[in-house]
Amino acid sequence: MLSKQPNLRIIPLGGQEEVGRNMTVFEYGSDIVILDMGLQFPEEDMPGIDYVIPDVNSLKGKEKNIRGILLSHGHLDHIGALPHLLPKLNWPTVYASKLTLVLARKRFEEARLLKFFKSYEIRTEQEHLQLGNFKINFFTATHSIMDSLGVIIQTPMVNVIHLGDWRYDRNPTSGSPTDFSHLANWNTEKIPSLLMMEAIGSTKEGYQISEQEIYKNVKQILENAPGRVVIATFSSMVERVGWIIKIAEQLNKKVVLDGYSMKTNIEIAKKLGYLKFNEKTIINVKSINGYPNNKIIVICTGAQGEDRAVLMRIANHEHRHIRLKKSDTVVFSSSVIPGNERTIQRLKDNLYRQCDNVIHKEIMDVHGGGHGQIEDIKLLIRQAKPKYLLPVYANHYLLCEAAKVAGTIGFPANNIFILDNGSILEISEQEIKIAEKKNTN
Ligand SMILES: [Zn+2]
Repeated sequence: MLSKQPNLRIIPLGGQEEVGRNMTVFEYGSDIVILDMGLQFPEEDMPGIDYVIPDVNSLKGKEKNIRGILLSHGHLDHIGALPHLLPKLNWPTVYASKLTLVLARKRFEEARLLKFFKSYEIRTEQEHLQLGNFKINFFTATHSIMDSLGVIIQTPMVNVIHLGDWRYDRNPTSGSPTDFSHLANWNTEKIPSLLMMEAIGSTKEGYQISEQEIYKNVKQILENAPGRVVIATFSSMVERVGWIIKIAEQLNKKVVLDGYSMKTNIEIAKKLGYLKFNEKTIINVKSINGYPNNKIIVICTGAQGEDRAVLMRIANHEHRHIRLKKSDTVVFSSSVIPGNERTIQRLKDNLYRQCDNVIHKEIMDVHGGGHGQIEDIKLLIRQAKPKYLLPVYANHYLLCEAAKVAGTIGFPANNIFILDNGSILEISEQEIKIAEKKNTN
């Protein structure tokens, strides 16, 4: 006689009601694997808070069941909570690609916890893991940082496909165009697939533009700038910072990397061979005034209006070495994270008073996020052909909008599930249902 299979439970502990603190628990019988462990930066109404991490109280008593932590990529909203949470969970092994692990390791080094950190490097997409009863497979998920992985978690009732963060790049600066058609193979007669789809771009019309287009736009700005150019972006946009340095070399300009995370990320990526450039292109911020203005590019943090980050200090005249001039150009090469709108608007206004050329997305496409937009979402669903859809990793309204987008191409509403943090999606051989809604905030 067949014994009854346990149910698979999918429990997001963060990232279902906000952008940030992404973390999802998969529980099957006495086995648990966890995908991502991120932190969220505070919103405007959270004064005095440095960051927010997922609540792991529901894992109390189950630490011994945790077979591993999988990481999709090295962004802080996916790895930033690791040093805070792994000590509470008895230090399970972390599985991730090379760059992701190096960035994670850096967090433990800074927290002086590196000696406890156990990790295993996923070297190729062909690698499979057996973690308890979970079979895990990997695939490349194109995103805005190298080495991004999607995961496929195989169980007897459903194949869960999680893309981490994703986008399509039809014209990448390196490698081949993105194609997710191979994911359709995981939806079979016997075992259907469930696609967990990051949905940050679900209100943005059209397709995400290609990195190649952004390259062209930024290059044009750098070629024609009459003075210095200050480019504010996320320190994790390693690839983009890499090609900006390359353009600087072609134009015989010098680059200042400003902001602790900006410097360390680029150092790490260069050391590992992900980026190649001449050391001499990078100069120390202290020597910035020894060069003609039109020979200087500053790449810095702070495009989200973070309080103490470099761009804010420049705007507030608090930067020790950089004072903006009318002829300078400031480029926001990042999109606005929901919750930061007013702060960024104030920062922009402030910058417009100081220099003539402030460039942001409404003026010229200089960002292109790492996230699929409405047409990309449609294409993804058509290519991956999942049976079930679970929009994830965004505010609640964005998850609902993603569901609507799926509806416009005929995806059955009954097969779409929208969870909150702490909700449980339970999947048995017979049915799939939201078993428990969270009742606290
Ligand atoms: Zn990301």
